[in-house]
Amino acid sequence: MTKKITVVGAGIVGVATAAYLRRDGHEVTVVDMRPPGEYCSFGNAGILSPGSCVPLATPGIHWKVPGYLADPLGPLTIRWSYLPKAAPWLLRFVAASTPQRVERIADALRPLLKQTFEAYQPLVKNAGVSDLIRQTGYAVAYEKRASYAGDALAWKLRRDRGVIVEELDGAELKKRVPQLTGRYEVGLFLPEQGFVANPERLTKSLAAQLQRDGGVVLQGEVRDIEVGPNGPRALVVDGAKIPIETLVICAGSHSNELTAKLGDRVPLEAERGYHVTYSDPRLSLPMPVFMPEYKFFITPMEMGLRIAGQSEFAGIHAQPDYSRADILAQHMQRVFPGISTADATQWMGRRPSMPDSLPVIGRATRYANTYYAFGHGHVGLCSGAPTGRIVADLVAGRQPSIDITPYRADRF
Ligand SMILES: Cc1cc2nc3c(=O)[nH]c(=O)nc-3n(C[C@H](O)[C@H](O)[C@H](O)COP(=O)(O)OP(=O)(O)OC[C@H]3O[C@@H](n4cnc5c(N)ncnc54)[C@H](O)[C@@H]3O)c2cc1C
Repeated sequence: MTKKITVVGAGIVGVATAAYLRRDGHEVTVVDMRPPGEYCSFGNAGILSPGSCVPLATPGIHWKVPGYLADPLGPLTIRWSYLPKAAPWLLRFVAASTPQRVERIADALRPLLKQTFEAYQPLVKNAGVSDLIRQTGYAVAYEKRASYAGDALAWKLRRDRGVIVEELDGAELKKRVPQLTGRYEVGLFLPEQGFVANPERLTKSLAAQLQRDGGVVLQGEVRDIEVGPNGPRALVVDGAKIPIETLVICAGSHSNELTAKLGDRVPLEAERGYHVTYSDPRLSLPMPVFMPEYKFFITPMEMGLRIAGQSEFAGIHAQPDYSRADILAQHMQRVFPGISTADATQWMGRRPSMPDSLPVIGRATRYANTYYAFGHGHVGLCSGAPTGRIVADLVAGRQPSIDITPYRADRF
């Protein structure tokens, strides 16, 4: 039976979900206060990594954090005035780092991410943008062997779940990525991974195709949800009411503001990250490169070369602190000393992050006509299409292909 479905959020998760719902023949309307793909899905590193099943919090994380915070070129910062607000989330983050929980989280993430390429395939084909998806593999460059040894658990978690990780020495790494001129003691190559050459164009193209296929994209801010006896019945969008039958919340880092209105209090944090994109770098890479010691990716996009990373806890509404992007730019100069910085642009985005690195996917706790799909943190691009397909299965009453119990909204 086809339904009338309203999706809040036109980031990659919202548009992929809308696309899968439309494929099932439903009447789909997407509402977003911005044009599609102009929030977090605009400027990520573009990495599609079915193997990224390792949560952010691994055993011993609380010992590593002070070192990250003290390093002026480090990957993490917490605005001290925001610490009291972030504290409950951070405590849950640390609590999720026990060896047992980390194994369980990796078990829950891998089946979702494993579907990345296959789940995007019908969507990009339909939208005529298959060229955006590149399955080149990616390289990992460690400056110090000791850092690789320190990450042993993370690589074991991946390998135990079938992710292919090829170990390289410094010379072999440079054969894969000849543009790397520095000294690297260990390299890795992950052949099954890849990237999106332009995450913004991907999201916009899927949204445009949705409209060509009969879906509707409306611009407006959802300020409230009117709830009747059978669940949500209208969205209050910029003062006007939009009646709804079935609702899907894909509002990224703002989703908890909406779920709270439906009785689901979800520990979601806007984990801010930055990028610098060099539109004329005079250098091109055959594949993305990850630098694990500083936790950034450098990705060869169609717009130029992008370096993206950093985790900043400062609250969802704080102004960007572009000194974090300057840190990325310093790393870029160090890795590629000859890079041309002409026309480099900076950006800040808010990852919708849960403390256990697992998204929220499934039905609202109280209402049968409402579904959630948000909280994908560092892997929202990878998991956008797989999530969309799961939501479509749930709406249709089909059994999703994977167990979604670990993604419940009320797990905390
Ligand atoms: C620096 C950086 C690098 C990253 N690199 C990668 C990567 O390489 N690979 C990867 O998989 N992921 C990566 N990510 C994460 C990824 O970008 C996110 O997980 C993903 O974009 C989240 O998509 P989304 O659709 O949930 O959220 P968003 O893209 O944020 O979309 C949510 C939408 O909801 C709308 N919205 C919110 N509230 C309302 C409201 N009340 N009314 C109307 N509209 C509303 C917003 O306007 C927005 O358009 C990275 C993130 C950052 C910051």
